[in-house]
Amino acid sequence: MGKYLAKKYKNLEEFTPGEQKDKNEFIKLNTNENPYPPAPGSAEAVTKEVELLGYYNDPLCVKLRETFAKYHGISADEVMFGNGSDEILAFSFVAFGEEEKGMCFPDITYGFYEVYSELFGVNGKQIPLNEDLSITPADYYNANRTIIIANPNAPSGLVLSLKDIEGILQNNKENVVIIDEAYISFGGESAMSLINKYDNLLVVGTFSKARNLAGARLGYAVGCKELIADMNKIRYSFNPYDVNAMTQALGIVSIEQDEYFKECIEKIINARDKFTLDMRSMEFEVANSNTNFVFVKPKTIDAKELYEKLKERKILVRHFDADKVKDFIRISIGTMEEMDIVAENIKEILG
Ligand SMILES: *Cc1c(COP(=O)(O)O)cnc(C)c1O
Repeated sequence: MGKYLAKKYKNLEEFTPGEQKDKNEFIKLNTNENPYPPAPGSAEAVTKEVELLGYYNDPLCVKLRETFAKYHGISADEVMFGNGSDEILAFSFVAFGEEEKGMCFPDITYGFYEVYSELFGVNGKQIPLNEDLSITPADYYNANRTIIIANPNAPSGLVLSLKDIEGILQNNKENVVIIDEAYISFGGESAMSLINKYDNLLVVGTFSKARNLAGARLGYAVGCKELIADMNKIRYSFNPYDVNAMTQALGIVSIEQDEYFKECIEKIINARDKFTLDMRSMEFEVANSNTNFVFVKPKTIDAKELYEKLKERKILVRHFDADKVKDFIRISIGTMEEMDIVAENIKEILG
């Protein structure tokens, strides 16, 4: 640490992103990326934008918002875009995380919620997951705080029904409820259909996982237009040009290619379900996943040791040190071929 860092950040524990290793050397299954390329036509769309890079990009993301809104049957002022959903989530902590009121989220969930609470001085209360890593919706009733829940949750991969989400919304009329739907396309029902019914609902999503655009950085928030205006107030006070011109074009191309993504998602779900059976046959505990990763508990080897042995074999997965989940590893779902190689290697490691 340098001696000039502002005092209030001296104890800040920053987010640890998954290692980004050379994809030619590793089978990379540690950050829930999508193994398939972005939508056909992406390269052409980017090339067109490159010629105009001397000019600023559209801070309003008008074409992107209109395309998205039309596709989802909402109005263009009910959506906003940002530089990945990480940035969108940051804006939501700033906009709705009042210091004294604070926020709440599960104790085991996406790591950024805790980091943002620290960074923005928001009192972030952690609500324990159940023993089986599930969420009890009633734990969030009348929270008297801004609520944020990843649905499906990570790294558990477990999902709440739309009815459960609606219960939380109905019992928190005075609180904003943020639902982070990074993985919703792989299992579960989006709460986006509820934004006209609940003015306290903010749905956050990303193009990183199911739209094969992790490296382009595109995330969004959907909610009633008042909530979106509040979010934009923060965004315009920070960086209105956060979604670059190439990324806006990539977003537009990807929204219009439904068939392509349906195929990609189906391939991932098939690989996930086969891999789940393979792991169970080797006596791993594996809950049914609703995402593009599985959270597995080995029975005959220490989880961290397995993570390290896989890394020696150039297979990168994720291990978390938190007590409740240290006996698990999280494995993102790649292609069927990749998952077969992983299963084969695990078999060899177990002897
Ligand atoms: C991956 C992930 C994000 C971040 O997505 P980006 O759009 O790439 O920033 C947000 N929330 C959850 C739960 C995630 O798993």
